[in-house]
Amino acid sequence: MRADAPQVSGPRVHTVRLHEVAGAALAVACPAWCVSDHRHEVEDGTFVVDFTHYGPEVSLRLAAGEEALSARISQTPFDARDRAPVVATYPEVGANNGRLTSDEVYALANQMRAYAAALDELAFDLDDARLTDRTERGTR
Ligand SMILES: [Zn+2]
Repeated sequence: MRADAPQVSGPRVHTVRLHEVAGAALAVACPAWCVSDHRHEVEDGTFVVDFTHYGPEVSLRLAAGEEALSARISQTPFDARDRAPVVATYPEVGANNGRLTSDEVYALANQMRAYAAALDELAFDLDDARLTDRTERGTR
């Protein structure tokens, strides 16, 4: 658990209105990592398969503040096709609609470390190119 994750004591239970049947509701306990208040599902209702727990978001923001990539744990516990927690990415990374296993998240992190090293090398090459450019223009 991340140090900045909200500390929650005891299970949080939300009573969610269901769109499937008028008047139907479902009490859902959140896993410890879920940071959603589920206000939308409680107030407006949801289809049971769409109910989703969300963990804290981890974002890569660029110099201007725009979000280049975000990732967070998510789980749709009532979706029979895929009930286990995954890391959901946006923009979607990978072949499974941006839903990654832990091995795929480790692989993504390794790719990003390699990319960061390539960016360091590119910045070094740029410094070299600019120095060479200044030197050549200064001697001509
Ligand atoms: Zn939840």
